[in-house]
Amino acid sequence: MTALANLSIKPVLDPVLAPAVEPALEPPRVRSPWLLPYAVLGLFAAAILALLWFVHRHESEIDLNNLRRDTQLAELALTRKLLAHQEFASRLAGALSAGQTPETLTDQAEVYLRENPELLNAIWTREDGVMSWVAPGYKEPVALSRERPEPAERERMMRLTRATGRATYTEPYRDYQNEPYIEYHSPIIERGNFHGTVSATISLRAVMLRLIPPAITEKYRVALLDAEGRELFRLEDRRETYELLTQTVQLTLPWRNLHLSVTSYKTDSLIGRAILTALALALTGVLVWSLALLRRRVQQQMAADAALVASHERFVTVLDSLEAAVYVTDFSTGEVLFVNDNFKQVFPGFGTGAMASSVESALVPAPSASVPAQRLLDTAGRPSGVEVAEVRDGRTGAWFLLRAKAIRWVDGRIVRMHMVSDITARKHEAEKSRVQQEKLLLTQRLMSVGEMAATLAHEINQPLSAIANYNMGCVRRLKSGEWDRNELLAAMEKSSAQAERAGRVVRRVREFLRRREPQREPCDINAVIDDVAGLIELEAEQAGVTIIRALEPGLPLVNADHIMAEQVLLNLIKNGIDAMQHTPAPQRVLTITTRRAGAAVEISVSDNGCGIAASVEAELFSPFFTTKENGMGMGLNICRSIVEMHEGRLWFTRGADGGVNTSSSGDNSSANGGSAFHFTLPLASGASA
Ligand code: ADP
Repeated sequence: MTALANLSIKPVLDPVLAPAVEPALEPPRVRSPWLLPYAVLGLFAAAILALLWFVHRHESEIDLNNLRRDTQLAELALTRKLLAHQEFASRLAGALSAGQTPETLTDQAEVYLRENPELLNAIWTREDGVMSWVAPGYKEPVALSRERPEPAERERMMRLTRATGRATYTEPYRDYQNEPYIEYHSPIIERGNFHGTVSATISLRAVMLRLIPPAITEKYRVALLDAEGRELFRLEDRRETYELLTQTVQLTLPWRNLHLSVTSYKTDSLIGRAILTALALALTGVLVWSLALLRRRVQQQMAADAALVASHERFVTVLDSLEAAVYVTDFSTGEVLFVNDNFKQVFPGFGTGAMASSVESALVPAPSASVPAQRLLDTAGRPSGVEVAEVRDGRTGAWFLLRAKAIRWVDGRIVRMHMVSDITARKHEAEKSRVQQEKLLLTQRLMSVGEMAATLAHEINQPLSAIANYNMGCVRRLKSGEWDRNELLAAMEKSSAQAERAGRVVRRVREFLRRREPQREPCDINAVIDDVAGLIELEAEQAGVTIIRALEPGLPLVNADHIMAEQVLLNLIKNGIDAMQHTPAPQRVLTITTRRAGAAVEISVSDNGCGIAASVEAELFSPFFTTKENGMGMGLNICRSIVEMHEGRLWFTRGADGGVNTSSSGDNSSANGGSAFHFTLPLASGASA
């Protein structure tokens, strides 16, 4: 089975129904089948993103908790140390107020300062502003004298501690190298009397560097901010921070607030999560894109399939609407591969899969014999032209015109395609018209003979009266008794010759009138002309027309039915005689010429008659066209049919000599130059060239 045969789409054959049915051929409007895959894809993407978000949130919570804990740790480390430093300064102040001399404190203070390098110094300033003791024991450093706080600030601190009796911190300040510091001032009060302050300078840079545990600085950017949020110092490596994870805690110092801000660095897990999210999004994008591509492909394929089905439908519709039966068979196996609707009417009981030999069994001759495979293929085995044959159905008697052609089938192999059209009606019609034509020919012959009856009677009468005369003469001689044997014999012989002559005339007429199937056979056209001249002689004589025969001697035989050839000649000669009715007597000459013309013999009958007017030229050969009172107008029409039946040509020229062709003659309608009718008959096969 072939792909084409498998497609079982049946077109609507009823042409009235066709327009109403057409919309049904459109694909039914269904909801897009792509909705589901897109929805599934959307859900998939949403699920992945949700999962990622949950993981992210969970990890962020862990990160935040870690951050909080680490911030607390850092805060704790800072405040613990600052408290210890406050304690140290307060202890010094307490010792001084208890009356200890500063010198006794120097060693102890220097040890503490060495152990805590973020603490730069400890200074006793008297209430009048004079520094009376400094640890470590070197002179007041030059740098410090230029540091802030300015003397005014120192004075302010002095006043403040004096007034409140409580320790306090200065505002954070920066030295000339922009390093941040803060100072702790603790009052020295002895029995209610204010003796100045012990101050300690704390380097905030050192505080941060030393006191924040490395475990924290590894993970976070840690910064110290003043009360207004301005950054004093920051511990940072060059990594990117993740600003969303920031914790700020307040370090509460006496009279002063500092803030510790801890910000998480971007970690690998954070980057990994971002990459994962991006990947999931990209993957979803790629999936959507490939789904869209797939959809386009499928739609293109569907459109191509629909076009193919539509074209197949059109193809089948056209084939099925043909009146001919169409079938395709395999060259080698003879299997029927495809049939159209009409096939089933012409070959009932057969269809695809049947064998060509059984389908065609009733056809005579068998198509495979009348159109053999070789005729359908060229020498290279490719399909060539169409071959035509007429075949008959032996059972029903129907006639078919068979057109066979080799074609390339859908699968590439070369197959036979047959188109079988019923031509029974046409055949019958042709047969009918052939019979009618024959009847017409016979009628025309009868009419011709009827017209010639008088001359025929005359022709027969002549030998009859001659016979009668000879007989009478013999009778008289015998009665008188004076008879010579030789004389009587001669008279009897003449009489019998006359009887033969009469017999010949009768035979010729009988032959001419005999109803018979046309028979083409080799015949001598000059002899036919002689016979016709014999038939028409008397009529010509009566019309005062001289018939001249200018026949080319030794002409090859022509392939013709001699009675029909006589009929054509008789018609043309009679027309010529008729045309010369008004021609002056001496010019009433009718010439019959024969000559070889290639593969045919050309016969011309020319007269000096009235000629043919250009106005009637077009109708001359039409049936029933006549200018004669008693004419039937069938003569020339029949002549042309007969000549064409013989594969010859009939035409006329103007002028008795036949030299002027109609096509170039113009309207010389009144020309009395006469006319000439010519026809050709093909040479008999084997006739000498
Ligand atoms: P019919 O002889 O019965 O008229 P034809 O078909 O033989 O029918 O001729 C048709 C017409 O053609 C004639 O009536 C005549 O007018 C014209 N015709 C035929 N032959 C000749 C001719 N040789 N010369 C002039 N006219 C002719």
